[in-house]
Amino acid sequence: MKKNIVIIGAGFGGIAAAKYLAKNKKELKDYAIHLIDKKKNYEFIPMLPDLIAGWLEPEAISLNLEKFSQKKGINFVCDSVQKIDREKKKIITKNREIAYQYLIIAAGSKTNFFANTELSLNCRKLDSVKDALKIKNDLLDKAQQKKINIVVVGGGYTGLEIATNAHFLLTKNKLPFSITVVEKAPEILKMVSDRIKQIAKSELNRLGIKVITGDSLQKYKGEHAQLESGRKIKNAFCIWSAGVETSDFIQNLEAKKDKGRLLVDQNLNLKGKNEKRVFVAGDSAAFATQAGKSLRMAIMFAIGQGKIAAKNIINSLQGKKISSYQPIDLGYLIPLTYKKAPGIVIGAPVGPKLGYFLHYYMCFYRSEFSKKSKVWNAVRRRLRP
Ligand SMILES: Cc1cc2nc3c(=O)[nH]c(=O)nc-3n(C[C@H](O)[C@H](O)[C@H](O)COP(=O)(O)OP(=O)(O)OC[C@H]3O[C@@H](n4cnc5c(N)ncnc54)[C@H](O)[C@@H]3O)c2cc1C
Repeated sequence: MKKNIVIIGAGFGGIAAAKYLAKNKKELKDYAIHLIDKKKNYEFIPMLPDLIAGWLEPEAISLNLEKFSQKKGINFVCDSVQKIDREKKKIITKNREIAYQYLIIAAGSKTNFFANTELSLNCRKLDSVKDALKIKNDLLDKAQQKKINIVVVGGGYTGLEIATNAHFLLTKNKLPFSITVVEKAPEILKMVSDRIKQIAKSELNRLGIKVITGDSLQKYKGEHAQLESGRKIKNAFCIWSAGVETSDFIQNLEAKKDKGRLLVDQNLNLKGKNEKRVFVAGDSAAFATQAGKSLRMAIMFAIGQGKIAAKNIINSLQGKKISSYQPIDLGYLIPLTYKKAPGIVIGAPVGPKLGYFLHYYMCFYRSEFSKKSKVWNAVRRRLRP
């Protein structure tokens, strides 16, 4: 019987690892590769906000994992991981148990409601294609009945993307709405430079999107929202984008963590004794940068780490030295929908127009080969003057 290499999570890190292992199958004759994900499709997350705006079809950014795996000669398991038993070296999912000799944990992150059940049940969130379509359809539905007051909780990259895409959708459909971004910190976009903050603020101002800082959502039931300051909002439509956390099975795993992410060494091995066969990639991993902080969550890091984790499994099987991960930070962009995406690319600030083009170029470049023509058509329509 073959031994098992198991990858948990078929997102950016997991898919990159699966591709690398499939490409080097000759080296893995005694091993079967299992890719586990609770979703049937791999979803291209950076374009989820574009689904809200309604200019992109979900098929352009969804890849069937069963078909993908068949093509690569790997086994796809559509199931939710509940636990890792590190002593017995097995994965316990909702419906089965899978033993592993090598493991890559690449289970990403999900919206964090900070244990507030009322808000988690009533607010919309944006983790998947299903969530994006729900936001879009509910927005259209509700705004057709009366003016809605959209409250986006969280003034980070994703919150602003959601706000501006919702603005685009309702403006295009000539429906009545207002949008407020509520941020707990004293300022929105706390991690970026003042210059970028200023560009983002003036764009929100131009669009009539209100920003409230130093406050958060406290209650939301029916259509009534109340902020921590006591301020009440009627006909509210709340979307929560105020933080992320790792999967429950990671949170329950006894291991060293930074804000819920698993601490890894320079080779992406889980920190701890006897963990040379367990690797972690992407948002699930806390990889220490030279500044001593954990690397931020971004697809370029997830892809790079997925590849290195897979490479290290092959090197380890061949008795070769395993490689350390060297992150290359290409920068970040904040897409604000109306042909504006300020940010930093290769260390230099880029103007909002160039940034917008670069963001969609990245989306096209990073999208799966079989989806490129659909993404290209959508991007072309989007970039048209
Ligand atoms: C709306 C939005 C826009 C973004 N835009 C950008 C951007 O423009 N550029 C950028 O660099 N980054 C962006 N990010 C961040 C980026 O998407 C993440 O950093 C990246 O997806 C991390 O990759 P990953 O492989 O770690 O996880 P993911 O790509 O999230 O994949 C994790 C996979 O694990 C699966 N999974 C989780 N738990 C379980 C379980 N218990 N059992 C089975 N399967 C499980 C999930 O279903 C998922 O398929 C964005 C994020 C969001 C939410």
